[in-house]
Amino acid sequence: MLQLSDYSGISPKSDLQLISRLADKLSSKQFLHINSTKEGGGVAEILGRMTPLLSKLGIVVRWEVIQGDQRFFTITKKIHNSLQGLPEEFTDDMWKYHEAINEKNAKTLDLNADVVFIHDPQPVPLIKFRDKGLWIWRCHIDVANPVEEVWNRISAYAGKYDAAIFSVSKFAKQMPLDEFIITPTIDPLSEKNNDLTADEINEVASRFKIPLDKPIILQVSRFDRFKDPKGVIRAYRMVKKYNDCRLVLAGSSATDDPEGEAVIREVTEFAGSDPDIHILLLPAFRDKDINALQRMATVVLQKSLKEGFGLTVTEAMWKGKPVIGGNVGGIPTQIIDGVTGFLVNSEEGSAFRIRRILNNPDMASKMGENARQYVRNHFLITRQIRDYLFVWYAMLNKSKRVMEL
Ligand code: UDP
Repeated sequence: MLQLSDYSGISPKSDLQLISRLADKLSSKQFLHINSTKEGGGVAEILGRMTPLLSKLGIVVRWEVIQGDQRFFTITKKIHNSLQGLPEEFTDDMWKYHEAINEKNAKTLDLNADVVFIHDPQPVPLIKFRDKGLWIWRCHIDVANPVEEVWNRISAYAGKYDAAIFSVSKFAKQMPLDEFIITPTIDPLSEKNNDLTADEINEVASRFKIPLDKPIILQVSRFDRFKDPKGVIRAYRMVKKYNDCRLVLAGSSATDDPEGEAVIREVTEFAGSDPDIHILLLPAFRDKDINALQRMATVVLQKSLKEGFGLTVTEAMWKGKPVIGGNVGGIPTQIIDGVTGFLVNSEEGSAFRIRRILNNPDMASKMGENARQYVRNHFLITRQIRDYLFVWYAMLNKSKRVMEL
């Protein structure tokens, strides 16, 4: 199992030093994370990597997942969509059901811990069943322009927490509690991000029947309309008139996302019979495959219309790839336009930037180097562990004017 020292020489030294200090102060305390899925999406990705590292640091850490049925996850997906600005129909019964399922979970989960991190809106009502400890709501989604009524419902719960954490500052709201901004991060030593040999990359390409004869444009994402998979296909078609290339759309649907299947059908139909479009439906935990796909790509797209942060952007940047990202949510926090990647606002803009990268390999490789360096300094998992521990420690020492570390 990995430990902090494995990151020396990779992560910034100051982060490692601060983590050691904080871990000494918090050792033997209990840290509980609760979210709504063990697989699929960025939250599960981060918790899966962070939990063992925290326990190596001497913190007693648990990661629990709330259980729900189809109806519950259909409601929570609507909540998710509305918080990202898409109006959906809600009835009082739906809100009651959201809370009732949380109440049921509160009876079976052990909620006792020194600090409880509740991730996203699905389990947010659990705060009603709090017994002890500090409770922090960790919002990962793009709530910059939510449907107001839905935000009011969710913030009525969120307001009861001790603190809230958002991924970027434009998501933070006026709330009666402490708020922190902490961007998500990736683990450079995970199967998804560690180095691969050319043979390993070739093996994945041939298993997925992707010939490496032309430049590859890649988007890795859950099949979710906010990730704009059809917009990606349209941009590829504009490029294809001038530059021969392949498009790979790789993804899965998460267990807490009931819309995935329908989106997969829509996208497959829209792609038609073009032999240069490869739609790959990946089961969960195919990290090495995703790693290899990102490494074989010439250009990586994340053409989201809404995006909490976009770990797929970070992953590709870490692999030295030029990334073209939608100018939304957390993506501009990672992509400095023209320096660490390109930001786009339209399909035409995406096509223009893809062609620029395909036609300028030297510029693309410089951009990729900048991207990797930027991720090293800002978006590695050690920085996030540092920040989570620091928020916890700061909350415990709130009344003190000086915090000793
Ligand atoms: N991912 C995966 N398999 C897939 C699609 C995505 O493992 O089929 C991973 C992806 O590599 C990234 C995370 O899921 O680590 C997605 O996080 P992101 O922040 O990009 O988007 P979210 O799904 O949380 O909206």
